[in-house]
Amino acid sequence: MASIFSRIIAGEIPCYKVAEDEHNFAFLDINPVAKGHVLCIPKHEVDYLFDLSDEEYASLMLFVKRVAEALKKTLPCVKVGEAVLGLEVPHAHVHLVPINKESDMNFFKEKLSLPAEEMQQIAEGIAKNF
Ligand code: 5GP
Repeated sequence: MASIFSRIIAGEIPCYKVAEDEHNFAFLDINPVAKGHVLCIPKHEVDYLFDLSDEEYASLMLFVKRVAEALKKTLPCVKVGEAVLGLEVPHAHVHLVPINKESDMNFFKEKLSLPAEEMQQIAEGIAKNF
């Protein structure tokens, strides 16, 4: 069965899309740890990031870099943090989070719940700068 992220790429499940290229896709995390928390995924469904081919991995990382640059322009921050966990959804994904201090990237704290209009605004802002 297709992963929830493959279903998002296929448009079967809605998302706040921020960017796409031939091989990769990016959208807002539905339970953000901070405003502008983005997930970047390869279109090829692979559970473990390091099982991607070298080409797929390189393509994803270059895409991640472009998304991070667009994210920082949209939501100014000290840095954009990057993390890979992948224990919840078995489709490789890279978390990008705008951070001003280390605790902004704490995956154990209570997640934000932002209004749909704000999520849409953030996604559109990043998309424009991509
Ligand atoms: P991980 O697998 O890296 O531990 O976490 C998976 C991430 O995917 C979580 O941060 C979770 O909020 C996010 N997530 C899970 N299901 C969905 C979904 O259907 N839509 C979106 N946008 N994010 C999701």
